[in-house]
Amino acid sequence: MDERLNHAPCGYVSITNRGIIMAVNETFLNMFGYDRKDVLDHHIESMMSMANKFLFHTYFYPFIQLYGYVNEMYLTLKSKQGDSIPVLVNGRSRRGDEEEIIDCVFIQMSKRIDYEKEIRNAKTKIEEAYRLKDEALGRLEVLHRDIELKQAELIRLNAELETLAVTDALTGLKNRRYFIEKLDAYMERFAASHMLFSVLILDVDHFKKINDTQGHLVGDQVLRKLAQIMEANLEEPALAARYGGEEFIVLLPGMDARQSKQAAEDLRTAIEQDSWEECAVTVSIGAATVTSEDTNISILARADQALYQSKNNGRNCVTHAADGLHHK
Ligand code: GH3
Ligand code: MG
Ligand code: MG
Repeated sequence: MDERLNHAPCGYVSITNRGIIMAVNETFLNMFGYDRKDVLDHHIESMMSMANKFLFHTYFYPFIQLYGYVNEMYLTLKSKQGDSIPVLVNGRSRRGDEEEIIDCVFIQMSKRIDYEKEIRNAKTKIEEAYRLKDEALGRLEVLHRDIELKQAELIRLNAELETLAVTDALTGLKNRRYFIEKLDAYMERFAASHMLFSVLILDVDHFKKINDTQGHLVGDQVLRKLAQIMEANLEEPALAARYGGEEFIVLLPGMDARQSKQAAEDLRTAIEQDSWEECAVTVSIGAATVTSEDTNISILARADQALYQSKNNGRNCVTHAADGLHHK
């Protein structure tokens, strides 16, 4: 064999078309650790695993018979020590003296296998990273939904709290605090645009007696029913609130003295004429209409004085602060 071929930088083997090795170069022997006598006249398939033999039969021989060559076939051959060494094989058939010869060159593939391993590892890592990312996203979505639910719950609770903070628990009417806020707003509006408004203070007549004779629970029921009657007899933007104890307060936007007195009289009559099962229930009412001298305290004080006057006048009646002490 030509020296250059013997030491060529690739393994070189010539086989018969039945696979018997007829020539082999030094590079091939070194690559697999064989002596020349180990391989010459042996079957090339003796260096192959079952799977590789099968590949050789189903691909190498048929292809080379059909086209006369095989390029870049990937195989593993066993070394003398029993290691599997991956190689790329190119083969070409030629007409020999007596029979068909197939010349094959072998290039060791360990580098490429390493790269492939690295690529496979990297792919596995990427897949794992994607999986972790998806998991994290899933968890984030769950958290996000949780937060949205909690926010909605908070908004609901806040609205509930806001309502509670301005509502009288016994009657369900607005409470004194809310009323004073509204009163302040109407005072400001009056100062700015002279929009009139009036206030009423209602006080249940002889309520103590109701409590004493019927008990507190009935007293509470009377207060609740009074609240309902007031709501039913007042129209927006009029606002009824519980002032405290058995006293109620009403804001009448836009109403002058005459109108507020009429509204008070209507309320008083509605209460008096309602069907009270246990005992008669009446209220005394004091009314006041805003003047340019008023503060939110003075207008309430004037309504309270008018209420006091109603009590003095025999209860179950209406007095307006502007009426003068001698009028009902
Ligand atoms: P007047 O006609 O002078 O207003 O007499 P009155 O008995 O209504 O007035 P007084 O202020 O002497 O009594 C008010 C009573 O209202 C005393 C208090 O126990 C009762 N009261 C205050 N708040 C409540 C309540 O929430 N429920 C009940 N059942 N009673 C209440
Ligand atoms: Mg009272
Ligand atoms: Mg009373």
